[in-house]
Amino acid sequence: MLELKEIKKYYKVGDTTTKALDGVSVAFRKQEFVAILGPSGSGKTTMLNVIGGLDNYDSGDMVINGKSTKTFKDSDWDAYRNNSIGFVFQSYNLISHLGIIDNVELGMTLSGVSREEKKRRAEEALERVGLKDHMHKKPNQLSGGQMQRVAIARALANDPEILLCDEPTGALDSETSVQIMELIQELSREKLVIMVTHNPELATQYADRIIEFSDGQIVNDSHPHKERPKP
Ligand code: ADP
Ligand code: ADP
Repeated sequence: MLELKEIKKYYKVGDTTTKALDGVSVAFRKQEFVAILGPSGSGKTTMLNVIGGLDNYDSGDMVINGKSTKTFKDSDWDAYRNNSIGFVFQSYNLISHLGIIDNVELGMTLSGVSREEKKRRAEEALERVGLKDHMHKKPNQLSGGQMQRVAIARALANDPEILLCDEPTGALDSETSVQIMELIQELSREKLVIMVTHNPELATQYADRIIEFSDGQIVNDSHPHKERPKP
């Protein structure tokens, strides 16, 4: 459903050019849980940002459900970001003065959806992550793991096809990390999940596929549990 073909992304700062992505070719299926590993600066976040439509690529092509993005206009990118992509970050990025339910509603960019319908969908997303009882609290009344669940609910609010996670457990203790990984794994039964992580143990335990980056290139692509059936 998502394919990168020889994607290159360079950053020029002064006289220095960094090849953040140096010819990345990879195809992803729906219902795949992909972990991205690699040293700091190897291009992991840049790939996530390119896939999420937050960064432009310089050359190559990204093909989404058979459609090339080479000819995408700004309005096509907006629609793609709004309808197809959910983002989860290490630092949750919740708005502290807003209630939990309002934070989740912020993830809903759909036009033509009534206030009541937005509220209903936000509640549904919170129920999905086990936090419906907390919907009237503020972020600072929740634990780190709960805040990350809220961020996941917000990412789910538009029911995106692709969930992009940048070190979602980076700020969590190991027990909470396991709970978040179990939730993300469950979501990968209906979505493509691509997760950057610095934790090879969690990646091996939960992901279907592990892709390793080095210097802007994919240097390894493996399936640790090839036999595991999807229900
Ligand atoms: P990772 O996520 O693996 O740590 P990044 O994708 O963040 O790697 O970065 C890849 C390379 O691109 C690094 O050398 C980084 O310094 C560089 N880079 C990333 N973003 C920018 C930017 N906005 N401007 C200049 N260089 C950047
Ligand atoms: P991570 O290691 O978690 O990927 P980084 O510290 O590499 O995070 O990057 C954080 C943000 O800073 C990213 O959005 C990236 O685009 C930007 N960035 C990284 N390297 C540079 C750089 N050399 N110049 C400007 N921006 C950068």
